[in-house]
This record gives sequence, structure tokens and C-alpha cells, in this order.
Amino acid sequence: MTTHAAPTLETPPAPAAPIVQDVRTIPRKLDAGARTNIVGLTREQLRDALIAAGTPERQARMRVGQIWQWVYHWGLRDFAQMTNLAKDYRAFLADRFEIALPEVVTRQVSDDGTRKYLLRIAGGHEVETVYIPEEGRGTLCVSSQVGCTLTCTFCHTGTQKLVRNLTAGEIVGQLMVVRDDLGEWPEPGAPKDETRLVSNLVLMGMGEPLYNFDNVRDAMKVVMDNEGLSLSRRRITLSTSGVVPEIARTAEEIGCQLAVSFHATTNEVRDRLVPINKRWNIDELLGALREYPRLSNSERITFEYVMLDGVNDTDEDARRLIRLIRGIPAKINLIPFNEWPGAPYKRSSWERIEAFADIIYKAGYASPIRTPRGEDIMAACGQLKSATERGRKSAAQVAAEAGI
Ligand code: SAH
Ligand code: SF4
Repeated sequence: MTTHAAPTLETPPAPAAPIVQDVRTIPRKLDAGARTNIVGLTREQLRDALIAAGTPERQARMRVGQIWQWVYHWGLRDFAQMTNLAKDYRAFLADRFEIALPEVVTRQVSDDGTRKYLLRIAGGHEVETVYIPEEGRGTLCVSSQVGCTLTCTFCHTGTQKLVRNLTAGEIVGQLMVVRDDLGEWPEPGAPKDETRLVSNLVLMGMGEPLYNFDNVRDAMKVVMDNEGLSLSRRRITLSTSGVVPEIARTAEEIGCQLAVSFHATTNEVRDRLVPINKRWNIDELLGALREYPRLSNSERITFEYVMLDGVNDTDEDARRLIRLIRGIPAKINLIPFNEWPGAPYKRSSWERIEAFADIIYKAGYASPIRTPRGEDIMAACGQLKSATERGRKSAAQVAAEAGI
């Protein structure tokens, strides 16, 4: 995500524990009287929920506005402190609703300041979220699914069998948990602080966001709302492996920036690297991408290209890439392959990556090389895989903690 010239090329240290393919889905605890979680509801959904619980219709809009500000602007978790609501209304809310976030299981901090959080969500599942501080900004890399149904051969997440979609609340919750950890909620009465620790959000963690479209859209509506978390759509980037039918909807219903995991310049190689290419091939994908900037008013599409030694990294690949994307406002983000234990590929050499970048640059495209971040804690792109599959707790322990 940066344009620094020299990525670190060290191999990450081998993880302490071997990967165990121990796949288990713990059913959600069904609790008929469960309170509704406010986090992740859009304004309309919150309004409907308040009315369904007994709030008079004519008051509902105003109550939404008040609660919204407490939860998303001030970061409040306790209805009792919502001082502009009548006491009995606060009690009514506490009785029927909750403000619940994923639970932080572990937090690791890399030598370079990157923070990786392992979060536990309903059902005992776990997902990872990564915070990447940079000069003048901070990017949060958010997961959209537990694992991923797709099986890109260079991606660690793709080897994880356990999969479920995250709810909108679990997606928004990732941002809120990290803001808690960074202490990034405004202090009442303190002068307004314009520096933002989390200034950008990328949907580049675990999962394929366009296979969880509705929840991702609703979560982004909450995140973009400018009376709350207030991240503009220009500071949000959704990365897809190429779910072609959902690309136009992304433009129309979310309007954020789009990144595409392109990674190859022939269908033969892309079929191998990004198997969804067998469903929607390069031509179909490019067709959808040509429409995107016009529909979403976005400036450029980011083409992500992972540099795999001897697989997709020749000069000829670079030239083919330029020919393919001609006419699309684009930038090409070269990602040095991040190795993981057992990965079937090697990272291209630094000279190769630079030569590739040079051809692209000379053709008039920005070609930043993404600096691998947090490699020492396996937090770099494509290294995420729930620790449920590494050195996990016993099933009984997880089940007990999930309240089953
Ligand atoms: N599922 C979405 C978003 C998550 S992956 C997608 O595939 O686009 C975010 C980016 O990291 C994608 O471009 C993905 O292809 C890339 N990536 C995955 N594994 C990687 C690895 N081991 N090294 C470098 N990049 C990787
Ligand atoms: Fe899923 Fe993206 Fe990994 Fe492919 S690269 S397996 S789509 S998370």
C-alpha cells in the first residue's frame, strides 16, 4: 500500500506451531430472548428495530440520530451514559439492545508497528484484522469472511476450510475494536483532533467481499456515515478476486474504490492462480472493470499483481498486462509474494520486480511496489489464516467460552 522503493526481502521466520487441518464449526448459541446488537445496523434497520421494540414511530428518526452519535462518534458502549435520552428510554434500550463487538483474543505488534488482531466472533469462529501505520496515515485491513470459499493457490486464507460470512456488525466491529485499542475516540470537551489513526480501510483481509455483498455494503454504509465513523468512500478500497456480476453493484451501492486481484496475463496462468477465472475469465473481468469508474465516480482501479518467481513475472507478462488494461484508468500495485509455510511459490527477485515495475511505469502507469508489512507476525497480505488452525485451544475450551 505504499510506494517505498525498497521492500524488505527477508523470508519470514517459520511459525512456531505446524498448521493443523482441524476444521470445526461450532453452532451459534440460539437464544430466543437475545438482545439485538446495534453495531452494524444501517440507519433504516436501526429505525425499524427501534419501532419493532416499541419506540413511537414519530420519535424513531430522532432516536436513531442520537444513538448513532453515541455509538459511532463517541464510541460509547453503555446506554446508561446516553445523557440526552430520558432515563426510562435508556433502560428500555438496555433491555432490548446491546452494543457488542468481537472479542480480542490476541494482539501481536510487529517490529514495524503493524498490529494483527485475532478476534473471536459468534459461534467461536476467529478472524484476523491488521492495522498498518504509515507516514501520515493508517490503514485497517478488514476481513469479510471467516476463511474463503475460493482457493487461490498463493493465498494462505484459501487453504482454510472453515468458512462463514461475517455479519455487518462483525465487519464494522473490527474497526471499532481497533479504534478502542488505539484510543481513537474523541474526548468530550477536548479540542477536536483531526489526525486520524485509522484513516483508510481496505477490504483485503480474509475472504472474498463480493461473496458477502449485502453485509459488506451495509457495513460500509455505517462506516461511511459522516455523523459517525465517517470514513469517506474515497478512503475505502474493496479488493475482489473477480466476482464479475457483483462489480457493477459495488459501484452503484457502495461507490468505494476498487482493487482487483489480477495476478496473471493469460487465462491459462490465471486459471491456476485465481481459479474463479474459470468462471469469469480475463475478458469478462476487464469488461466489467471498464464500466466501474464511470458508475462509481472513482478515479482509478487498482490492479493487484502478486510477483511469483518464474510464474507470472516476465517482461512479456508486463507488456501483456499493459495491453490488456489499455483504456482503463488504472494503477498497478505489485505485491512481492508473501511466503507462508508450505506455500508452493517463491517471491520474485527484487531485480525482477523492479524490471517489471519499470516497464509498467514507462507505459505511463503508477506501479507502486507494496512493502510487505508485519511479516514477522504473519500479518502481510495473503498470510492470514485463523489461529483456530494453528496452536488452537481445545475444542472444549472454545465451546465453553462461546457459551455452548
Ligand atoms: N479476496 C479478496 C481480498 C483479500 S486478499 C481478493 O482476493 O482480492 C488481498 C490481496 O492480497 C489480493 O490481491 C490477494 O490476491 C493478495 N494475496 C493473497 N495471498 C497473497 C500472498 N501470499 N502474497 C501476496 N499477496 C497475496
Ligand atoms: Fe480468497 Fe482472496 Fe485469498 Fe483468493 S486471494 S483465496 S479470493 S482471500
